[in-house]
Amino acid sequence: MSNSLKIAMAGLRPASRSVRREALGQGVRAGAGRASSFVALRARLLASPSLAGALSFMQVTTRSWEPHELAAWLHEHVVEPGWMKAPRALREPGAATVELCELDERHREVAALTGCARRRVALALLDFVAPNPDRGFLRAALYSARVRWSVVEGRSGWIPAPRESDLLSDIVLSLFAAEILSDAELYRSHMTVCAGCGRVAFAQEPRPRGAGCPRCDGEVRWQSR
Ligand SMILES: [Zn+2]
Repeated sequence: MSNSLKIAMAGLRPASRSVRREALGQGVRAGAGRASSFVALRARLLASPSLAGALSFMQVTTRSWEPHELAAWLHEHVVEPGWMKAPRALREPGAATVELCELDERHREVAALTGCARRRVALALLDFVAPNPDRGFLRAALYSARVRWSVVEGRSGWIPAPRESDLLSDIVLSLFAAEILSDAELYRSHMTVCAGCGRVAFAQEPRPRGAGCPRCDGEVRWQSR
């Protein structure tokens, strides 16, 4: 196992969370910690192309995606940033494989493909915010090398490295994995996921239990502390 992989796996252990919580203390200090980590997260929201791509895939409305929307997302958030070349086809379990060259004529298949991919991504993220997460998608991204450690101009971090043969959901999850591995504590503290529609959002303070999703009124889950 490479050193960067060891460090990434160590950062995923729940123990690091309790150590951080003890260090933060209680009350005001914890509140100040949440406020400053939320500021750090907002900076990532503005600066990170992988987070922008991941959220864009999950933030669309509950209606189905049209072919031109999938093509634009793939170009803008996956191909143009250099994460991978344009694939010949997009595939997802439970949906027909769609060749990229005939995307425009395959409205129904694109709707099914993106719907299946979104549900699988949402399930992986719901696990991440669950009380006893398995975090299988992060391990899968690491061991399948769909993320890689990169050092560019003195700055290091995880970047997505999906392959053209990957499932559409694994391409999206590679974007989330690169972000979460770069600072898992930020996402443990602030990420919320709707159990109904998969909408991903961020909250500075823990949300009250029972708060409904603004998009579908479904149950919003987050990692309670
Ligand atoms: Zn929802």
